[in-house]
Amino acid sequence: MSSYSIPEEVIRRIREQADIVEVVSQHLLLKKTGQNYTGLCPFHHEKTPSFVVSPARQIFHCFGCGAGGNVYHFLTKTEGLTFPEAVRALGEKVGIKIPTVKRSPPNPEAEKEQARLYELNQAAVQWYHKNLLERPEARTARAYLAQRGIQTETIEAFCLGYALPSWDGLLKKMTEKGCSPFLLEKAGLVSAREQQAGFYDRFRDRILFPIWNLSGQVIGLGGRVLDEALPKYLNSPETPIYIKGRSLYAMEKARHEIARAGCVIIVEGYFDAIALHQAGVKNVVATLGTALTPFHLQMIRRFAREVILIFDPDQAGINATLRTIDLFLVSGMTARVVSLPSGQDPDNFVRNHGTEGFLTAVRQAKKPMDYALEQFMAQTGVSGIDQKLRVAEQILPLLSKMENRMEQSHYLKKLSDELKVKEADLAHELKKLSEKGPRTAIKSMQPVTGPTPVPKEEEILLHLLLHGKLSLERVAEVLTPEDFSDVRLKRIVRLALDCFQKSASQEGLSSLIHSELIQPEDAAFSIGVEPAWVGL
Ligand SMILES: [Zn+2]
Repeated sequence: MSSYSIPEEVIRRIREQADIVEVVSQHLLLKKTGQNYTGLCPFHHEKTPSFVVSPARQIFHCFGCGAGGNVYHFLTKTEGLTFPEAVRALGEKVGIKIPTVKRSPPNPEAEKEQARLYELNQAAVQWYHKNLLERPEARTARAYLAQRGIQTETIEAFCLGYALPSWDGLLKKMTEKGCSPFLLEKAGLVSAREQQAGFYDRFRDRILFPIWNLSGQVIGLGGRVLDEALPKYLNSPETPIYIKGRSLYAMEKARHEIARAGCVIIVEGYFDAIALHQAGVKNVVATLGTALTPFHLQMIRRFAREVILIFDPDQAGINATLRTIDLFLVSGMTARVVSLPSGQDPDNFVRNHGTEGFLTAVRQAKKPMDYALEQFMAQTGVSGIDQKLRVAEQILPLLSKMENRMEQSHYLKKLSDELKVKEADLAHELKKLSEKGPRTAIKSMQPVTGPTPVPKEEEILLHLLLHGKLSLERVAEVLTPEDFSDVRLKRIVRLALDCFQKSASQEGLSSLIHSELIQPEDAAFSIGVEPAWVGL
């Protein structure tokens, strides 16, 4: 679908045809009050209605949380759809067919190959799944899942599979059907032999977890051994369709619930994610053996503003959480951290304590800075000056990135209380850090796979541009895409200027940007784009 764009005219017609009151009513109870309708906001928790829908202007607005927009905005937020998906879904409802204008793909060969890679992964997943359910060799695997409390419905829902203990089960199966082993290798399903010609199955004697993208296509697999053999987990290698730092396990299943709750729970493992889904907590995704990246956050923020992190309470998990805190400070998203009792992961915690127990733990989640302070103090101790310096060294760079001054001074005070040092001295050190520039600290802590930070000025300029606060005419006179340092910004600016030259409207521009850039597989970048097509 990524190679299609929806004509602006059609986007407008569908919006005019649809009734926002009717669409919103399918999600919440609306009451007529004067010219408008009011109800309880689906995007934040409230007891008195501050969510208003205007049939005259065909927009909604929440006076509680500030959410607002037109019918498309409502659909993307509540149903977790991308902009083009929302247009299509609504088009279907109002009976307007969307003509698909095919843009010439940048590389038809590459697109064709990608489509093949999706197909191969899909075929492999089906075969592995059938193995798990039917083959006698999979008896141990079935027993293993049963012993971990995974129900049959969950095995079905997540299409879990089993790779037979042979070296060429999948290879034979697929090449018999005429598939090239080289393509299978490219799909990450088989590996080339090192000493001689030929290939062998990548996954052997493992329980397999298919990984989907937001469009529901299989992009790769994760495999777990049944015993204590190493590596415990083996994933697909990165392929043209699978980039770990941009994918989250179970995202396609969780997206609706994430959008509804406005909150996502991020765990570390496949079993954690599926155990929670099985327990009825469905806004859960898992990272795929990588640290959380800025790309992950960009994908998530389309659906939620709040993130709850539950990494394992071992040293690796704690360090991963601490690294991530930095990311949240600059992302504008709210994060909280759940610390489980030592030795427990979300999977066994929810089995031992039930859904209610788990949700209680989530409600007790800490703010990231409280968590960081607690962990750093526990790791280092605060008995002597060296330890105190060490804790301050770790906390102050984080504090220097806090945008809210009140929050910053709250933690400065807390740090001074905990370390029993003068607040003024800490403030002095903090000031020195801020003068050096917080960016250096961010760089050192960001995952290597992440993008370099976008210069603030460019971000602001782009924001103004996309929100119609700057005339494109003026901008076109003085700026070119090359004036932007970030490659993604260059692309957006180029689109914006193209659009201007074709005298497209603001809404056309935004939907174009959405369909060009905010595709499921390239959900990486959504900087300030949403409000432009809100039309408020
Ligand atoms: Zn609200």
